Amino acid sequence: MPRATKIVATLGPASSSPDVLERMIRAGVDVVRLNFSHGTAQDHIDRAALVREVAQRVGKEVAIMADLQGPKIRVGKFEGGKVQLEAGQPFILDAALAGPGNQERVGLDYKQLPRDVKPGDTLLLNDGLIVLTVDRIVGEEVHTYVKVGGELSNNKGINKLGGGLTAPALTAKDMEDIRTAMSFQCDYLAVSFPKSATDMEMARQLANVAGEPWRHKPGLIAKIERSEAISQLDAILKASDGIMVARGDLAVEVGNAAVPALQKRMIRLAREMDKVVITATQMMESMIVNPVPTRAEVSDVANAVLDGTDAVMLSAETAAGKYPVETIEQMATIAEEVERAEEVSLDADFTNKRFGRIDQSIAMGALFTAHHLGCKAIIALTESGSTALWMSRYKIHVPIYGLTSQITSQRKMALYRNVQPMLMESCHDRDEALHRAEALLVERGVLRPGDTYAITCGEPMGYPGGTNMLKVCRVG
Ligand code: PGA
Ligand code: MN
Repeated sequence: MPRATKIVATLGPASSSPDVLERMIRAGVDVVRLNFSHGTAQDHIDRAALVREVAQRVGKEVAIMADLQGPKIRVGKFEGGKVQLEAGQPFILDAALAGPGNQERVGLDYKQLPRDVKPGDTLLLNDGLIVLTVDRIVGEEVHTYVKVGGELSNNKGINKLGGGLTAPALTAKDMEDIRTAMSFQCDYLAVSFPKSATDMEMARQLANVAGEPWRHKPGLIAKIERSEAISQLDAILKASDGIMVARGDLAVEVGNAAVPALQKRMIRLAREMDKVVITATQMMESMIVNPVPTRAEVSDVANAVLDGTDAVMLSAETAAGKYPVETIEQMATIAEEVERAEEVSLDADFTNKRFGRIDQSIAMGALFTAHHLGCKAIIALTESGSTALWMSRYKIHVPIYGLTSQITSQRKMALYRNVQPMLMESCHDRDEALHRAEALLVERGVLRPGDTYAITCGEPMGYPGGTNMLKVCRVG
């Protein structure tokens, strides 16, 4: 049984050589994340090209997720790359500083900050590891005292306790970055700090316009990391293709202890609404420096899998850590082990469910049949990938193979839980298509003579949304 939970890995200095990237993909990366908070447009263009090239060499399509910086307040760079802040010392966040920072002050990419804070406010840096208290505002300078010190390095994030930034979700830089991301046709576009469905609709419109030359439409992921987004969760989900439980910023805004329950709620709601969900941040944090995870990290990854997340995400672990490949191997092992132990509650999940669409009913029929018959596989012949998406919203111990002629659909499906995407040449004859699908899975070693499988397709073939047929077959 292939691993159902997908792995998203962030690329960075530790993972941008062809050799490391190849080993990471072989170890189990399904989606790579390009973090637009760091690096230049050219860095991302180069990395995207490298990902496509290495993935092809390995023979596994991986999706590319471009993650916009958003109106995140980040410190600028330092002369020596980092400084050590001591409790009690004064420290200035200087929106007017253009050059590198030092022990006394550092620049900001969010120029609005001096107008968004007031004396007495608490600012949390680097996911809350460093705490500053605002003392006074002097022009473009925010004067603070260090309450909790520590090491502060280039471009670390700043949050205001309790939220309340005035910035819109899409900055001028984000709009430029959307054009960059569309130039290499990213499969997913993650929007940072959306407050409402409107933010997502705007991002989608910009992405679709920028993708027009290639007729490319990426999947939109809303990063839930603001208190305001929690009350708008339903509407944001409706306007998006998926969400990210962005625990780093979210924890600072709503308080650490509120996050686990929110994670469960977000995952449940996303699945109910046929959307994908990624659980992110600090999942294997200690592996940035250690070759093995802590017990708590193992449990965290396992619990996200049990919650039903589509994917678990790695940030600094793979972008800047010492053990990018080992981290992926460990994460994959944890997911596989806990998936095997998971209970299937499909009958209960289906209680009182009504399916209004033909294609969706067929998808659910395939799921039910394959589960109760103990099929070896479900095959979905799908143009857009939506049949595979519907099937993947329920937990079963039968792998779903999403066979498509569209490479963009293949890559999108890389994020769907329990879906193994494959490319199959388009074919307008139904019997020929069914025959080819079986042959492909036999050739890949998935199916053997005597195995039963359920297969769905649309007749006539080759139209998105046309799935209307379910067949149960035995390999002869
Ligand atoms: P970031 O988003 O890594 O871009 O900040 C994830 C998070 O906030 O958890
Ligand atoms: Mn964030």
